[in-house]
Amino acid sequence: MTSKRLEGRIALVTGASRGIGRSIALGFAREGAHVIALARTQGALEQLDDEIKAAGGTATLVPADLKDFDGLDNLGASIYERWGKLDIFVGNAGVLGDLTPLPHLEPKVWDELMAVNVTANYRLIRSLDMLLRASDAGRVILVSSGAGERFRAFWGGYAITKAALNAMAKTYADEVASTSMRVNLVNPGATRTKMRAIAVPGEDPDTLPHPDELVEMFIELASPACQKNGEIVTFKRKS
Ligand code: NAP
Repeated sequence: MTSKRLEGRIALVTGASRGIGRSIALGFAREGAHVIALARTQGALEQLDDEIKAAGGTATLVPADLKDFDGLDNLGASIYERWGKLDIFVGNAGVLGDLTPLPHLEPKVWDELMAVNVTANYRLIRSLDMLLRASDAGRVILVSSGAGERFRAFWGGYAITKAALNAMAKTYADEVASTSMRVNLVNPGATRTKMRAIAVPGEDPDTLPHPDELVEMFIELASPACQKNGEIVTFKRKS
């Protein structure tokens, strides 16, 4: 029998209700992690919980809005009280905003992009840092995008948040480099999710990788053995 690679690890995954985050949460639970699954849609989290239990895993559901920044402070306090540490933080949740020329981007759309894609991850880093340092091998994985490195017309709002996220993760990685922690970014590439279907309507989703195909890469980055730090790891489909 092969041993599970994340046995006993405590892992927070944001955006666990669907898409890439849901696959990560299920994949981590299958590898023995206790998954703290955060998203707003409670029914979808409950379905995930059923699947995790059916696979022999365990989860704690956190139905929450990432824009509730005080709630993110409280989440850190709750994790501290229950486990005293956190082994893995996957900042996956994200919003696309509107694809439109920058001057046309509505301030409320800009504010949500910044709040969910950038500020929430900063607030979680702030809230979870002590817990990740208390782990023997704290692992942070922030989900970015190629849009954060290649700047194209109409993608500005989203791209600016992902460029900021890249700067945040690389800075944090440098700060923890001499500890047992590791901080990396993932560029999933085009993946078969609701966000992608909205971003590129008319594309045949069957031509894109299913989020389950990305899970192996996340498990490697979450494992105590991972020594990468401050890197942007891009998903490459196995041919
Ligand atoms: P998705 O299917 O739209 O899922 C987004 C997830 O984020 C959902 O679970 C959603 O849950 C959660 N979320 C959004 N706003 C939230 C909020 N205010 N509070 C809490 N949770 C919130 O997107 P995806 O394609 O899986 O994307 C996951 C990550 O990959 C994102 O960071 C995205 O930018 C990145 N990415 C995706 C692609 C792609 O092709 N799919 C490519 C490059 C990068 P609720 O709605 O239940 O709250």
